[in-house]
Amino acid sequence: MSEQMKTRYLSVDSDVDNLTETGAVRTAAALLKDNLTVAFPTETVYGLGGNAESREAIERIFRAKGRPADNPLIAHVARKDDVYRYASSVSEQAEQLMDAFWPGPLTIIFPHNGTLPEAVTAGLSTVALRMPGHPLALAIIEEAGVPVAAPSANTSGRPSPTAAVHVREDLDGKIAAIVDGGATGVGVESTVVDCSSEKPAILRPGGITKEEIENIIGSVEVDSALSAGDEAPRSPGMKYTHYAPNAAVTVVSGSDRFFQEQINNAAAQGRRVGVLVPEEKKDLFTGVEEERICGSVNDMASVARDLYASLRSFDLSGRSDLILAMAVPETEIGQAIMNRLRKAAGNRVIAEK
Ligand code: AMP
Ligand code: MG
Repeated sequence: MSEQMKTRYLSVDSDVDNLTETGAVRTAAALLKDNLTVAFPTETVYGLGGNAESREAIERIFRAKGRPADNPLIAHVARKDDVYRYASSVSEQAEQLMDAFWPGPLTIIFPHNGTLPEAVTAGLSTVALRMPGHPLALAIIEEAGVPVAAPSANTSGRPSPTAAVHVREDLDGKIAAIVDGGATGVGVESTVVDCSSEKPAILRPGGITKEEIENIIGSVEVDSALSAGDEAPRSPGMKYTHYAPNAAVTVVSGSDRFFQEQINNAAAQGRRVGVLVPEEKKDLFTGVEEERICGSVNDMASVARDLYASLRSFDLSGRSDLILAMAVPETEIGQAIMNRLRKAAGNRVIAEK
């Protein structure tokens, strides 16, 4: 059972010069120091923060989210140097990645030195660390003076929150506070890259692309389970269904004609079909219960930004029982988008031959 509490709403003026001085940042930091849980925006999605050094705070995060205990958390730091407090060694490649992408949407896996509680690392020999780029996130972590574990601030399995209202939908009454800093920028989670062994590997595609990483450290592996689907992934979180709205999701890859055929087939079986398509395909398809526009194909970053809010909006209407999502090209940020869509779909993908 998760604890019941009154959730406080903390808003922040967007035109403040010194965020650390704002009441919201001070209050959020004080709650974190008391080992309570606070949701706040990062540049990827809203995170549910808790003091990473406190077992009590970590337990609160797992309970509020209903997160499986074997799924480790990312600890967020406000300075690069803090890595040396928790990692037992830092490879040259990890240094290069930190210099290139921190603060930013890249999580790096290091061998840990045992400082953080086992609940954070789920008993693994490694720890995931990130320095986020959002000024509010940085100000809160800095002011709290502790590393902040912060998985996405949603109920486990649901689409991640990209606005404070999404956090409220899932976690109202279960966490101490929500800091409302407006919509997040990237819209999908950080890229997770494992630098704990000699050969770096991407365990989860995200806000920093494989191409960007390879520009810095040369070729990287991509965890085979990301494409195979059946192997045990090295990133425990990747084995769970995730990001899913209530209605079943199927990803459709192919021509517009093929997409329309899938709508017709499903409708013929009595399904109420919702479609998730980019702006360019607006009003193109017939026989649909409802349509959601998600970004533009000419601007894949906009697809990433809109993705989770679009998925959540199907739950709000409740009109569809099947969502057909249009596939996007799997290059750059498209890799992260397709990874999340496949997870939301439980790997149901229909591709034109
Ligand atoms: P979330 O907090 O929901 O954004 O998920 C964090 C992701 O990082 C999950 O997929 C975790 O399984 C993964 N992760 C966290 N710590 C580790 C670690 N030490 N080794 C491998 N993957 C990790
Ligand atoms: Mg998550």
